[in-house]
Amino acid sequence: MTLFNSDISLLPASFGHDIAEEERKRKHREYYEAHKEQYKATNERWRLSHSLEWKAIESKRNKKRYREYQRRVFFHYSNGTMRCVSCGFDDIRALSIDHINGGGEEERRKHGGSHEYLWLINHKFPSGIQILCMNCQFIKRHEENEFPNQNGMNKLLLTPKQLKSRQTINF
Ligand SMILES: [Zn+2]
Repeated sequence: MTLFNSDISLLPASFGHDIAEEERKRKHREYYEAHKEQYKATNERWRLSHSLEWKAIESKRNKKRYREYQRRVFFHYSNGTMRCVSCGFDDIRALSIDHINGGGEEERRKHGGSHEYLWLINHKFPSGIQILCMNCQFIKRHEENEFPNQNGMNKLLLTPKQLKSRQTINF
């Protein structure tokens, strides 16, 4: 029988199964299991002797993870627009989460900076949060006196609709 490329899909899945390759993989797995501790020790030695490189790798990984969590949180709270709810600004580098009814500082202190994103994800995106750009964030804080360490100064904050209707800010 002559086979053409197009006939390959007609072959049973086991056709051409490379037994030698399977055997090689099995042996490799066995070897790894038997020498696991040595592998770990070697990795550990490498980490210690390359601590700077390792730190760089770790920080790169952390940054990637941080960006991933941030994107998921922003995506959710901006209804997929990735924009400031107030002015529409869309550069993710200057967007932030805003606690609509205040209390952001307290929340941040509790969960600590970037961990807040993970906290929100793990708690299935609780309500009461919107995406604001840093400008709108500061304007809102200024107008509503929502500054850190000023307990008792927090007034009722603007809703997104109220923020949206505000086109010019007079100081
Ligand atoms: Zn804005």
